[in-house]
Parts: sequence; structure tokens; C-alpha cells
Amino acid sequence: MTAPISAETLAAPGTRHRFLSPHYDDIALSAGGLATLLARQGLPVTVEVIFGEEPEVGAPLTAFAEELHTAWGLSAEEVISARRAEEASAARVMGTASLNLPFRDCIYRGEQYVSNEHIFGSPTQAESGLPEDLIAALGLPDAPDPGLWLYAPLAVGNHVDHQHAFAAGVALARRGWNVLFYEDLPYALLPGGHDRRLSTLPEGVELEPAAIVPVDDAWESKIDAIFAYPSQLETIFSHYVGVGSSRDKVDEAMRVYAGQYAPGSLAERYWRVAP
Ligand SMILES: [Zn+2]
Repeated sequence: MTAPISAETLAAPGTRHRFLSPHYDDIALSAGGLATLLARQGLPVTVEVIFGEEPEVGAPLTAFAEELHTAWGLSAEEVISARRAEEASAARVMGTASLNLPFRDCIYRGEQYVSNEHIFGSPTQAESGLPEDLIAALGLPDAPDPGLWLYAPLAVGNHVDHQHAFAAGVALARRGWNVLFYEDLPYALLPGGHDRRLSTLPEGVELEPAAIVPVDDAWESKIDAIFAYPSQLETIFSHYVGVGSSRDKVDEAMRVYAGQYAPGSLAERYWRVAP
């Protein structure tokens, strides 16, 4: 195993940071502490929402997409603008910049993903080229830039959009880019979620822990950023995690998770592709 990366190394002067966020709330939940700390150092930090594009105009929504809109309390007409407003408010809390990449959420990509089994299953064959399209959309130069850090999801929970972003991260790491993988919350909050993902990584991919970043100083901002997405709180914390969506309950569930790495400290753990 190679030496761990310290928080100081990540925050070195001159570094730049691009957090790949499959959906509108993934960075606040999974990496909001580090993103906030880096931004407070005055470093450029961008959260890039990959699958946040508007559904195709005139194309009918699937019943599954309609069902999700109802759970979020948003109509089809307002869903993307409402979620972008939430994203902007989280960005203000974290001090980050926001960018939208031109891809649609899997629930808006035709009839490919029309149930929870589909969205937490395997990406369809038709989408095998999507990770490379995603890399192209990042507009990176050919040669890896040592001052740039990229953050991709580990895809705990197996959401297909997270799996695509993970695959893009692995491909970039193999081309020499600095890529760290964050543990996807809320999925990792469920018992065993993290281990299940590590034991079912795609053929030939091996990860190792790279950094444990103490985020105590950014904790309140991280929770504030999570609460900048009111449309998601009920779905995530009441229905999925099952703790309820009051600030106390969310804070407590997040603390239990963040407290597992070092006694008396709240932290986020990041992974990298093993050499
Ligand atoms: Zn997501």
C-alpha cells in the first residue's frame, strides 16, 4: 500500500479540486466536509453535477419518474430548476462553484431504468460508452495535471449513475490523473453497504484507502449543506436510512458514520485505485 495522503497535501497552495457529483446532493452528503475545508483555504473547488440535465422536452416521463417527483414534492415542470436552486444554496454554504454537465438522470434516459431494481442494478449495454462521454465532457487536457484533484463516487449502493461516474474515475486514475473516490452517502449509512461495494467491484479494479480527512471544523457547514436540499431529506433520511429527517436525527446519523475512522474525530474517508 502506498503512503496515505494528508489533508495538508490535498490543500496545498495552487491545487485545484473538481468534485464529480452524479446527482444534485451527492457532494454535500458524501464529501461536503472536505469541499468546504478546501474552499475555506481559498482554493478553487467546483462541484460538477453530471446527471442533472432537464428531461427531454416532449418525451413522456415513465411512471417511475413520476413516482419519484411525487415523493420529492416537485412537479415535472419545476423539478430541475428547483433542484438547481437547492444546489446553488448548498454551494453558497460550502463556498464552492457549481457546474452542470450535459447528461440526464437515469430515470430520464428512456425506458432503461424504470424501477429500483434497475437503478441499483447494472448499467445497460447501450450505455457502455457513457463513462468515456463523461470524461470527454470534463474537457481535461491530454496530459495529467498534477495540481488538479478529481473526486469521483465509489458507487456504494450501486446506483447506475454512480457506477458510470466511478468507471470514469477509474479510467482517469489509470491515465495518471489524481483521482480520489468518496464513500457515497446515504448508501454507506446502511449496515454493510460499504463492504458489499468493495467486494463486488468490477473485474480487475482494486481500491485502497488513500486519505482520512478530519472534518470537525466544517461539520456544521456540511449539515447545513445537506439541509439545502429540502426536497430530498424525507426520501433519504426517513424512507431510505429510516432515522427521520429532523436536523438532530440527520446530524446524529451522519456523526455515527463520520466517527468510525478516528476516536473523538469526525472524518471523511477517500479511496484510490491500488497501484
Ligand atoms: Zn446520487
